[in-house]
Amino acid sequence: MTLPAAGEQPPLRGVTTLPPALSREPAADRPARSPLTFYLGISEPSWVGEDSPLPDHIPVCLSCYRIRDRKSLPRATRPVLLDSGGFSVLSKKRADGSPARWDLTPQQFVKRVRWIIRQLGRMPDAIAIMDWMCEQFMLARTGLTVEEHRRRTVISALELMWIAPDLPWMFVLQGNAEDGPDDHLRCADMYEQAGIDLAKAPMVGVGSVCRLQATDQIITLFAALDERFAGQDVRLHGLGMKKLAYVVAPAAHSWDSQGWSLRGRNAGPCQHGLGHVHEGNCPYFAVEWYDQVLTAAARVTPEQWRRTVRARTVRRNQQTLFAPPAPHMPTLGQSLARAARVFLPDNGDPEQTELAAALDAFRAQVTAPQPSSASQLHRPEGNPHE
Ligand SMILES: [Zn+2]
Repeated sequence: MTLPAAGEQPPLRGVTTLPPALSREPAADRPARSPLTFYLGISEPSWVGEDSPLPDHIPVCLSCYRIRDRKSLPRATRPVLLDSGGFSVLSKKRADGSPARWDLTPQQFVKRVRWIIRQLGRMPDAIAIMDWMCEQFMLARTGLTVEEHRRRTVISALELMWIAPDLPWMFVLQGNAEDGPDDHLRCADMYEQAGIDLAKAPMVGVGSVCRLQATDQIITLFAALDERFAGQDVRLHGLGMKKLAYVVAPAAHSWDSQGWSLRGRNAGPCQHGLGHVHEGNCPYFAVEWYDQVLTAAARVTPEQWRRTVRARTVRRNQQTLFAPPAPHMPTLGQSLARAARVFLPDNGDPEQTELAAALDAFRAQVTAPQPSSASQLHRPEGNPHE
């Protein structure tokens, strides 16, 4: 789908002037420096490429799950963030009533990701790992605990770095933030104990925030993470953020959201002359929403945010005086050994030389700087579904 060129706009219903979002430049009333990168969540893959109705300056977030049945994708002409699609996979009720699980192995997931990258013709800014969301309804689907979801999320990071150390993985902090930020903080501890330096990731996802009912919970969570990573170059990315979350913008490097689509479904017929029955698929509506969020986010000053963090930190320190200690987490060696066992033939002897060498190589991969990713764009074509 392509929007009509300038001068050929269809008659607009209900609006007399074109909204600023329709220009090919960012909205004029937004401060020059955006506080964060906002990846607009999209369902339609054609919106990444040359035929996209979106202005060229808007980066997009694409879900691996949504494009799983595609035979081809357009060449990307804008920055792309790849979401793993874990929310869709794990929230789906299974026909046989069995607990929800990832329907891909890490190897299959990497194969699919590499195919997407070849199709897009450009490396995504980041690729979310196969994480496990921790909302109550997700736990009900899988029958597992928050602790197990966190553990599986960190193991996914290890597995994917093991299989494809060249890809820009976004590690994800998971936890149930309804009761506070402790879950996410423990997840950060687990990455540290697994030997993963979050500052080396292009972004670190903050998960299970899209269904949080209170903006206050999101503020508390980001304030705690801000404090946890103070002085470190950890680039926090809000996964599936709500519109009202703009208040935490100074603490975030980036975020993604497809909230416009849900909002658009309830907004009545398209007001931009496209003839849609609702605004949920309308690029005009999406861009208006995108500009509204970024404009609001840009108005929150770092000083305002620092005051918020200070207030939360005092309250949190008082609360955690009597909190129970964090549970035992696997050490780096245990994590590496577990990861290695997944991928090496099991001959029953964990002391073997081959395993030790593999562990050393893996440790080097975990701690070494990521190599340039451009070389990945020239691999032979192939479809992961074949
Ligand atoms: Zn519309």
